[in-house]
Amino acid sequence: MINFQYARASDVADAVRQMANDPTAKFVAGGTNLIDLMKIDVERQTKVIDINRLALKQVEGIQGGGLRIGALVRNSDLAYHPLIEQRYPVLASAVMAGASQQLRNMASTGGNLLQRTRCHYFYDTATPCNKREPGSGCSAINGHNRMHAILGTGDACIATHPSDMCVALAMLEAKVHVTGASGDRVIAFADFHRLPGDTPQRDTTLNPGEIITAVELPPRGFATNYTYLKIRDRLSYAFALVSVAVGLELDGDTIKEGRFALGGVAHKPWRDPQAEAALRGQPANAATFARAAEVLLRDARGYEHNTFKIDLARRCIVRALSQAARGTPQSQSNKKIM
Ligand SMILES: Cc1cc2nc3c(=O)[nH]c(=O)nc-3n(C[C@H](O)[C@H](O)[C@H](O)COP(=O)(O)OP(=O)(O)OC[C@H]3O[C@@H](n4cnc5c(N)ncnc54)[C@H](O)[C@@H]3O)c2cc1C
Ligand code: SF4
Repeated sequence: MINFQYARASDVADAVRQMANDPTAKFVAGGTNLIDLMKIDVERQTKVIDINRLALKQVEGIQGGGLRIGALVRNSDLAYHPLIEQRYPVLASAVMAGASQQLRNMASTGGNLLQRTRCHYFYDTATPCNKREPGSGCSAINGHNRMHAILGTGDACIATHPSDMCVALAMLEAKVHVTGASGDRVIAFADFHRLPGDTPQRDTTLNPGEIITAVELPPRGFATNYTYLKIRDRLSYAFALVSVAVGLELDGDTIKEGRFALGGVAHKPWRDPQAEAALRGQPANAATFARAAEVLLRDARGYEHNTFKIDLARRCIVRALSQAARGTPQSQSNKKIM
């Protein structure tokens, strides 16, 4: 049992001020990841700042036609929001593919972006882990690495980012709005999460003390030809081995624009401009999709237990692009269960 202080923030300025006064503190939103990590001694905060009373709970239209999702919008409220269901169904599907209904009722948009990896060594304080304790080593590289990354890995860490929501947000080219002691800034989603490099303890490009206030969606939601395909060990309540979010714009059978992002394969949601270029102007068929998959996976590298992910990713990409092109997205059969 560790002792820690609990404080409540009344608004964003107060949250930023309180954090500046104690840089080792952490914000808590739904608590579904942070509190778990504190219970097992992975996170050792001396203070948590509760942000649940902040006015960041709205999904609202913005000038130019996009949407602004407040950082405290719960995952369930987001997935069932009519504007998300109608205009960004790939995001609704991705959110519904994550966790369980009870967890989605608590989990917030900002917290989902900042959830930590599910690498089991990260959770096991008896083992070396560069992400938990920089410089201690990586137990996964020569250990049990079935769930681990095949793209963008380094010698320091081969963990994956576990979020489903973030895979759809990467494909949609969302933006993250943050506020800190030096003011507001907006981060392109592609630049928000980072590769491990030599500093795997840093998951994102957020500066110390900054708070996420919102996620902005651009006007284009790919609501006609989309899918979110998630392959996992169980049908629910499991993290992705591989997932794919797709958005296509078709002109008859020709792809005008094709985007796809992968989850479960890297330290961040993985997009590849060269692979997407391989779709542009091409017929929407299996041969085109297989070519795009080859391009995306050209530098994929497997470890002892996860080499199967390379072929799994290849098949998932082809299947997801085919589903999107046909206008038959992956079933959301759990969508109506509250
Ligand atoms: C059993 C289980 C299964 C799960 N399965 C899945 C799954 O399949 N797919 C999936 O995507 N997720 C899954 N999750 C993860 C879940 O989605 C996350 O725990 C949740 O989204 C985190 O949101 P939260 O609001 O509870 O975050 P918290 O636990 O409150 O916070 C998480 C982190 O974010 C920081 N933070 C929170 N809000 C802000 C903010 N606005 N600004 C700055 N920092 C902030 C906190 O300081 C903390 O570091 C699962 C979780 C559990 C426990
Ligand atoms: S993969 Fe990353 S999180 Fe897992 S043990 Fe290695 S350093 Fe730690």
